[in-house]
Amino acid sequence: MECTKCDREAVMHAAYSGAHLCETHFRESVERRVRKRVREDSLLSGDATPEDPETWVIGLSGGKDSVVLTHVLHETFEEDPRVELVGLTIHEGIEGYRDRSLEACVELAEGLGVRHEVVSYEDEFGVRMDEVVEDDPEDMAACAYCGVFRRDLLSTYAEELGADKLLTGHNLDDEAQTALMNFLEGDVAQIAKHFDASLGGFSERKEGDEFVPRAKPLRDVPEKEVALYAHLLDLPAHITECPHSSEAYRGEIQRLLYELEENHPGTRHSIMAGYEELGGIVSEEYDDRSADLGECERCGSTTTREVCRKCSLLEAIEAV
Ligand code: SF4
Repeated sequence: MECTKCDREAVMHAAYSGAHLCETHFRESVERRVRKRVREDSLLSGDATPEDPETWVIGLSGGKDSVVLTHVLHETFEEDPRVELVGLTIHEGIEGYRDRSLEACVELAEGLGVRHEVVSYEDEFGVRMDEVVEDDPEDMAACAYCGVFRRDLLSTYAEELGADKLLTGHNLDDEAQTALMNFLEGDVAQIAKHFDASLGGFSERKEGDEFVPRAKPLRDVPEKEVALYAHLLDLPAHITECPHSSEAYRGEIQRLLYELEENHPGTRHSIMAGYEELGGIVSEEYDDRSADLGECERCGSTTTREVCRKCSLLEAIEAV
């Protein structure tokens, strides 16, 4: 099949748009969508200058999504001194998994000349995920512990690295899955939170704001296209599933969405369009309810409880 835009051979077909694209036009289309999202979310502050650039910390796991995001942003801002990129890798302590994806991160960051920092659960909290899974004091899925620890370290180190923005490599499939899960669970507060945390366009961090603003500039690109982009550019991405991956419900939603997308191309895009509109409305409704944020009495991080979730999990782990 020929490319829709030129006479070269197509490497992909996007059923949701009807386009067949050759390698060059496919690459351009991925990059264009990321750049458009950066613009539309007003990611780059008008105040950023070459003398006083913005620092964008990217959660760099070494998987295809964060690797592609880092690569595209580097291409975009390589000649623009108003943005400084920093890759931040969290090492969970998962034998045979994170070590290999860490190698991918190091290779990518060195190849691009991007600053790269690594922090581990072991150094920060004195635990490794492999042991947490074995002890499992709260009788929970591995990801429930891991997600709490990761979010904590991403926030803490984004602050420490002086981040103006914290970026993650969530793709269109990830976001549509989360949206659908929130709908099906009837979790309106979570929809508001999701919207506020990373979907709602971008306002500058104001004085007194507790968190570094987050964004997901890859969220308009479907997962398969992210994988194809990484493959065509031979990017050093580590594509193996974590041995503790346990998000069974997300897996079900993922299969459901594949089927819907197959039968009704464009489903993921329409879910996200409606979800974002709804998110904006419920975000206003839930605005006042986040006013009771305080400080964790153990670690001082921002929380709605006396002791934050991370500290209570660590306490349970230590007690085993
Ligand atoms: Fe952690 Fe779960 Fe991701 Fe594995 S799949 S790294 S346990 S959050």
